[in-house]
Amino acid sequence: MSGFVSLVGAGPGDPELITVKGRRALERADVVVHDHLANEALLQHAPRALHIYAGKKKADHALKQEEICALLIEHARAGRRVVRLKGGDPYLFGRGGEEAEALSQAGIPFDVIPGVTAPLGIAAYCGVPLTHREHTSVVTFLTGHDPDLIDWSKTAGAETLVIYMGLTTIGEISRRLIEAGRAAGTPAIAVRWATRPEQQTVRATLGELPAAVAEAHLKPPATIIVGDVAALGGELNWYERLPLFGKRIVVTRAEDQAAESIDALRALGADAIELPSISIQPPESWMALDTAIERLDQYDWLIFTSVNGVRFFTERLDRSPRDLRRLRARIAVIGDRTRAAVEALHLKADVMPGEFVAESLLESLAPHEMAGQRVLIPRAAVARDILPESLRKRGAVVDVVEAYRTAIPADATERTAAVFSRHVDWITFTSSSTVKNLLAIAGRDKIERAKLASIGPVTSQTMRMHGLRVDVEAHPHTMADLIAAIQHLS
Ligand code: SAH
Repeated sequence: MSGFVSLVGAGPGDPELITVKGRRALERADVVVHDHLANEALLQHAPRALHIYAGKKKADHALKQEEICALLIEHARAGRRVVRLKGGDPYLFGRGGEEAEALSQAGIPFDVIPGVTAPLGIAAYCGVPLTHREHTSVVTFLTGHDPDLIDWSKTAGAETLVIYMGLTTIGEISRRLIEAGRAAGTPAIAVRWATRPEQQTVRATLGELPAAVAEAHLKPPATIIVGDVAALGGELNWYERLPLFGKRIVVTRAEDQAAESIDALRALGADAIELPSISIQPPESWMALDTAIERLDQYDWLIFTSVNGVRFFTERLDRSPRDLRRLRARIAVIGDRTRAAVEALHLKADVMPGEFVAESLLESLAPHEMAGQRVLIPRAAVARDILPESLRKRGAVVDVVEAYRTAIPADATERTAAVFSRHVDWITFTSSSTVKNLLAIAGRDKIERAKLASIGPVTSQTMRMHGLRVDVEAHPHTMADLIAAIQHLS
């Protein structure tokens, strides 16, 4: 089998700014060789591939250019599909040209998938249209890496100037442009990590930009735009005005349930960080659940307290010789999500409390006669017992069967240390287990430095029991409401 290399533009940072074609290449890849500027979040599109970091910060070249080319060739020769993932576009100051030449010389088949180059990201996210009928009809892209390589007499007057890699040489660049006749008062902007929640913008005139950059302690990677359009940003800067722009918000829920919350937070401009403190696993033994499924037609009530309960119950049912036609029980659920999971099975919940806690479910069940009723509750092994106990007191025969277990994810300690090495604005807790587990992994000190958001009263109670503050609690108790509450307080 012959290998193949795709040089893929990762876009400027926002992981949604990769092309559809680039994403597909990642999905098919066996090996991904990525650099410092390509957002690591993109690697999730290639979960099974080998990920190799090729580095490329100015000071720390993890791999030299020849080594990178050799690596691409070696993996392709071994018959693998290789993606070379490069920040922005591969052919704009990305040394993609050299890599394509090396592949071509080695006889390796390849393609090149363009990407949104950094200044286009800046244009859109900082409100600096690179052309504008009233201001400019010429755009020039240049590198400021070595100011001696540029003919400033030709460049200085060229309307909109876009300068890559010019941050550390900005003093020199500004001086040379002004010497070559560009007005010192020309608007300018320097942007670091454009299109990411870390985006940082410095606006000044061409003459004052070096001092402004120094004062803001702006560090690479940053791109500089000089020209009248740089002054428009103030009005058009929609990104930095998003309600949660730049806020680092940790989502502690299990990996397979975090995606939606992460997306919602990112859409509001937040730096949403997935840090699962809990992982959902099958029970030690299926016996209890299988026995309950075997006798499904004997139950009068089926109570689901979580989406996971529905999920594992259905999976086991599918594996058994039975199906849902055995079910004659009435169904009660806690929570919108759980109800949606039940409805996805084309079933309807007969009882759903307004508040998403066990106590409210008990209230909703109060009008129903429970004496002698058989109740099945498929749920996690560790859970609160108020529900079965109260039902038993009312005369019901309750089977609580273990449908899944919650555990601390294997890589939690490492991931947690990385996340807390920088300031965290908010931590969101979506269940008591997320509270207890994160406390065990991260320790109280780190947690207390952030603001703490709780999904509902039970989670809040666990937080308080462990001596943690509750800065905000969601009403009703859904993740969407939690995000709204955080937004309100930010
Ligand atoms: N191929 C890349 C450029 C690589 S050269 C592209 O098309 O964007 C590296 C330079 O790109 C950095 O020094 C910086 O000037 C610019 N750059 C890359 N990503 C950036 C970002 N998110 N924000 C600002 N500048 C960025």
